[in-house]
Amino acid sequence: MSLLDQLAISALPLVPRPLMRRLSSRYIAGETLEDALSCLRALRARGHPGILDMLGEDVADEEGARAVSRAYVEAAQVSAAAGLDAHVSVKPTHVGLRISEELCHALYDELARTCAELGSFLRVEMEDHTAVDGTLRVFEALRKDHDNVGMVLQARLLRTPDDIAALAPGPLSVRVVKGIYLEPASIAHVDPEPIRQAYVELCRQLFGRGARISFATHDELLAGRLLALCDELALERDRFEFQVLLGVREPLWKAWQEAGHTVRVYVPYGPEWRAYSTRRLRKNPQILRHVLRDLLTPGR
Ligand code: FAD
Repeated sequence: MSLLDQLAISALPLVPRPLMRRLSSRYIAGETLEDALSCLRALRARGHPGILDMLGEDVADEEGARAVSRAYVEAAQVSAAAGLDAHVSVKPTHVGLRISEELCHALYDELARTCAELGSFLRVEMEDHTAVDGTLRVFEALRKDHDNVGMVLQARLLRTPDDIAALAPGPLSVRVVKGIYLEPASIAHVDPEPIRQAYVELCRQLFGRGARISFATHDELLAGRLLALCDELALERDRFEFQVLLGVREPLWKAWQEAGHTVRVYVPYGPEWRAYSTRRLRKNPQILRHVLRDLLTPGR
């Protein structure tokens, strides 16, 4: 981490709450589910389906995990009742992965059941490398009982091709990401180009086994290679979509949408927005650089 990054990050707690809220308002829908729904309605008017993500991770105890799970059940129910095309996307440690895998599986299982009743979908997210084994075990167990669940795989991690090879056969929905957690070079690609190449190869491997893929990226160079791969494999449009973070590189969304692709927008919300954003920035200062650059160059 550069000295400048360290200085900027250590100054974060000093930024007054209203200013921090203004800075983050482009990327975070607000504190409440109602804020997230308003955001989803506005996105729908622009032709974008959504993803609901309640900010937070690493709950302290079982009661905390159950409360998060109840909040996601409510989010799925309320967004379905509002007729919105949006599904929930949940971090394993937010529903207790680090407390007990059984608890985490039970809470995802209940949520997947609710989503199925609503005709909706549940995405199991991926966190840092220490959570990958547990998340894959929970996901594989869920997949046996539900066909409305999907997961996330990270191109950055060297292990991911082996993880794909080890998955049980059957329908598969995967969001492929570069990986937001900065991992050591012993277990991960660290430079941009190897990460891009790994991303494309993972998608080739996943398409080869019939998966449906969400390309979650704002990297137009990578996106061009992914679309070339889809052409090469002569894939139908329903085999893939783009997923993007709220507020990030909107001109790209427009270009993809105009080319006929689905662009689904990830809508983070929740009372923990400040603590969560600060933790994320501390772990990956690149995000702070992206945010500052976006603020200084509107229309990017
Ligand atoms: P980059 O090269 O990092 O970014 C390309 C450009 O996009 C940057 O130059 C910058 O202008 C802009 N940009 C990218 N990110 C931001 C940002 N946060 N704020 C402002 N500008 C930005 N990672 C996980 O590890 N697990 C997950 O479950 C997960 N889920 C995700 C879900 C969605 C829908 C998306 C879009 C990302 C998700 N990620 C997840 C994050 C992902 O791993 C990357 O860290 C992130 O998308 C940045 O990578 P990129 O492919 O956009 O390329």
